[in-house]
Amino acid sequence: MDFDVIVVGGGVAGVSAALRASELGKSVALVEKDQIGGECINRACIPSKTLIDAVKMVRKVYSSSWIASSASLDYTKLNENKMRIISAIKEKMERNLHRRGVKVVKGGAKIVGQGEVRVGEDIITADSLVISTGSVPLSLPDFPLNGKNVLDPWTAMNMKEIGKRIIIVGGGVAGVELATLFRSLGREVTVLELMPQLLPGFDKDIASATKRRLEEKGIRVYLNAKSKIVSAEGEVKFSVNLPNSSEEIHGDLAVVTIGRKASTENLNLNEMKVEVDQRGYIKVDERGRTSNGKVFAAGDVAGVPLSATKAWRQGTVVGDNLGGKDTKMPRYIPTSIFADVEIGIVGRTLDDLKKMGVEGKEITVEMKDIPRAWTLNETEGFLKLVISGDKIEGAHMIGEGATEVINTVALAMELGASLRQLYPVTFSHPTVSEIVSEAIQRLTYGELY
Ligand SMILES: Cc1cc2nc3c(=O)[nH]c(=O)nc-3n(C[C@H](O)[C@H](O)[C@H](O)COP(=O)(O)OP(=O)(O)OC[C@H]3O[C@@H](n4cnc5c(N)ncnc54)[C@H](O)[C@@H]3O)c2cc1C
Repeated sequence: MDFDVIVVGGGVAGVSAALRASELGKSVALVEKDQIGGECINRACIPSKTLIDAVKMVRKVYSSSWIASSASLDYTKLNENKMRIISAIKEKMERNLHRRGVKVVKGGAKIVGQGEVRVGEDIITADSLVISTGSVPLSLPDFPLNGKNVLDPWTAMNMKEIGKRIIIVGGGVAGVELATLFRSLGREVTVLELMPQLLPGFDKDIASATKRRLEEKGIRVYLNAKSKIVSAEGEVKFSVNLPNSSEEIHGDLAVVTIGRKASTENLNLNEMKVEVDQRGYIKVDERGRTSNGKVFAAGDVAGVPLSATKAWRQGTVVGDNLGGKDTKMPRYIPTSIFADVEIGIVGRTLDDLKKMGVEGKEITVEMKDIPRAWTLNETEGFLKLVISGDKIEGAHMIGEGATEVINTVALAMELGASLRQLYPVTFSHPTVSEIVSEAIQRLTYGELY
C-alpha cells in the first residue's frame, strides 16, 4: 500500500478528512483535479460573502444619516480583493496540508479497484478511500445553462459586465443572497420561486420577513411561480405561470440557483458496491461510512444539506473514524444566510414538531428589545426559539449578527442543555447575542417554572 488513506477531492470535506486522518497518524494522499478548497473557497461561500459584505458596508453608510460623506463601490477593485482573500485562505489550507504531511496529488482521480486510484498514468493504492468530490450545477431542461446569459451563480458573480435586468431562478439560500448582491449593485432583480414561500423548508415568519426585506429593496419576488425559459436569444424570456395568471418576463441575465447533482464521474461506484440514493448522492451512515466498509464519503457528494458547514464536519468525522476514533455526525447543523439582513437557523420549526406529534411552543424576541441592535442601527428582525419541554428544539433568527448568534444556540442544543441550565449563562452587554439570554429569561420567568 502506498498510503493508509486516499482522499479523492480537495474541497472543504476532503481537506478536513485528510487533515484529521493525518493528525491521527494515518498516511494520507489527497487528489484534487482543480483547486484546493473546492467550491466553497474558490467559487461559492468565500467569494460571495466577500462581495455581500462589501455591499453591506456601503448600505450601512447610506442608512447612517450622521455619516456626511457618500460611498460607492469600485467593482474591479472589489473583485481583486476577493481574489486576494481566496488565495490567502487557500494558501493557508495548502500550508496546513503540507505541515501535517498530507501528500497532495494534482490531477483527476479515477477509482479503478478496491483501494486503487488512477491519476494520469499512475496508480496509487491505499487501505481506505474517502470520496469528497462535491456536487456540480445541473443544467435543467427548463433552464438550460448556456455560458452566456443563463448562468450558474459562480459564473454570474464573475461576469465583468453584469446585465441590467437579472432574473434569479430559485428563492433558496443562494437565490436570496444573490438577489441581495445584485440589487445592491443597482440591478433590477426578479426572483422566481416555485414554492409558496421564499426559503422553502425554513420557518414561515423568517421567510416572510425575508420577502418583505427583499421587496423593500425593490426586488420583485414571485412565489408559486412555475416558470421556464422560452428563449435566450439576445435577452432571456421566461414564461411564468402563477396560480391565477401567467406572464412573460424578460431579462438580460438569468441566474439558475436550483439543481445540483453529485459529482461521481470516474468513481466506478457500482463496481465498488458503493450505494447511491435516488438522486445519485452516496449513501453514508452517521460516521460517513458507505455500503463498502473501506470507502467513506463526505460533503456534497454524500447528500443534503449541501453546505460547507456540513461538509467540513463530515470530513472531520470521517477523518476521526479513519484514525480509530468513534465519532458520529452532530445532531444539529446550523445554516447561515448572508443576505443584507442576516439569517441563522438551527434545528426544528414548530411545524416540524407538530408533524412529529411532539408538543412544543415558540417564543419570539424582537431585535428592538436588544440595546446593541440600537447602537448598531440594525433594529429589524427577531429570534424565535422553539421549545419542547425544557429543551430548545430550534432557533430561527433574522437580524444583524444572526449568522454568529445562531452558533451559540447550536452549542446549547448540541450539548442538550436545558433551559434551567442555560438560565444562569451570562452574555456580555451590549451584544446582539443577548437576544438568546433574553429569550431564555422570558421562558424561565414565564410559565415553565
Ligand atoms: C453561491 C454559493 C454560495 C454558497 N455559500 C455557502 C455558505 O456561505 N456556507 C455554506 O456552508 N455553504 C455554502 N455553499 C455550499 C458550499 O459551497 C458547498 O456545500 C461546499 O463547497 C461542498 O464542499 P465539498 O468539499 O463537499 O465539495 P466541493 O467544494 O465541490 O469540492 C469537491 C472537490 O473535488 C474535486 N474533484 C471532483 N472530482 C474529482 C476527481 N475525480 N478527482 C480529483 N478531484 C475531484 C473538485 O475539483 C473539487 O475541488 C454555497 C454554494 C453556492 C453555490
